[in-house]
Amino acid sequence: MYPHGEFSDYAKKLAAEGYEVEAYVKALLGKQDDSERFSFQTVFETERGLYAKADVVRVNEDGTINLYEIKSSTSVKADFKHNQIKDACFQTLAAEECGRAVSKVFIVHLNGDYVRQGEIDESDMLVFADVTQRVREVQGETGAQIAEALSLLGQPEIDASSCTCLTLTRSNHCDSFDIFNPAVPSPSIYDLPRISRSKLEKFVEDGRFCLDEISFEEVTAKQALVLQSAQFKEAIVNQDALAAWFSKAEYPLYFLDYETYASAVPILDGARPQAPIPFQYSLHIKRTPDDLELVHAEYLADQAALPLQMIEHMERRIGATGSVISWHSSFENTQNKTMSKQFPSKAGFLQSLIDRTLDLEDIFSTAYVDIAFGGSTSIKKVLPVLADDLDYKDMEVASGTDAMEAWKRLIGMEPGEAREELRASMLEYCKLDTYAMVRLFEEMERV
Ligand code: SF4
Repeated sequence: MYPHGEFSDYAKKLAAEGYEVEAYVKALLGKQDDSERFSFQTVFETERGLYAKADVVRVNEDGTINLYEIKSSTSVKADFKHNQIKDACFQTLAAEECGRAVSKVFIVHLNGDYVRQGEIDESDMLVFADVTQRVREVQGETGAQIAEALSLLGQPEIDASSCTCLTLTRSNHCDSFDIFNPAVPSPSIYDLPRISRSKLEKFVEDGRFCLDEISFEEVTAKQALVLQSAQFKEAIVNQDALAAWFSKAEYPLYFLDYETYASAVPILDGARPQAPIPFQYSLHIKRTPDDLELVHAEYLADQAALPLQMIEHMERRIGATGSVISWHSSFENTQNKTMSKQFPSKAGFLQSLIDRTLDLEDIFSTAYVDIAFGGSTSIKKVLPVLADDLDYKDMEVASGTDAMEAWKRLIGMEPGEAREELRASMLEYCKLDTYAMVRLFEEMERV
């Protein structure tokens, strides 16, 4: 019943990267004098049903063992969603239940400051963080959660009418949330943007999931717009806020979108682990308010390289005046800042892009709010409502994650028909991103 969603694609990418990092850890440990003390993918299976596969185990001179959990992050993560300490603690408890004495526990992660130059230098790229004490601190809590999980698994049937993520915001729900919570209506309290955990807990405790049961006094100003739209069943338009946004737009308008590639192990010289590298852009230019023939420009790198050629390509197409319009522009501008550091001679041009940027997404958080967007301001949610003739369905490349995967394949492909087809799909996807922005801009202008 587990549905395939965006989460699954991202999880797959993370898993693949985990194996890649593991290969470098193996190579590094293999060069050490004590290499014969290490083993990989050691399974600890206990009588009461714990199963852990430790990435690396070192058998120490005194018979104890050290456990190593390999992660493709650039730091030790211990937040609610990605708690690597809990993960390591589970491994530790499983190993100890199998009669092994665990001396030390490490999270092996990537060094975010490592810059690739030539062959990968594993010793510089990997960080061995000793988390033994932190693991011991969460041992009691993890043990209790294990007992709870075993008790759940021991039941002949489970209650599929509700699950424990009810009190968590939507970004914490897995793809199965709807299956386990059939009584939660749509729209619901989970569509209220940035709702706090305490507020959610209160609504859940009261059994109030439907937005008709929530009053305006109970929510923030931004949430109130979504609530209003849900209760009145129409889009809420703030003309003053719309006018204020449009007053900043200066022609010619440059609708710009980047695609970036980020990988655990940097794929080219000058790149760092997990740092995005722009490899593609699409640009639609609307020269005047009644320009019916948009100008389109695009660039897609044919090989793995830092984006100097891409910047030069943009420089020839983006003039010195006019607004640059992006969606969620903090992403584009973070890339502009990174590229400025990589290529100081281009810093002036890139800074001018930053200075002239207008974020089209802003409109949809305050000036035009529709419950049909599901409490989101993602272009993937807004577009089907306002321009339903444009969609990403049936496209071979249909998301940023797809674009990353596609580029990795593209740069390794021999010239030929298959490569050209993939290239065309990538260009089509990015072009749709900027054309969608033009359409949404025009739709809001009409409103
Ligand atoms: S508690 Fe529910 S939403 Fe949360 S991970 Fe489990 S099934 Fe998914």
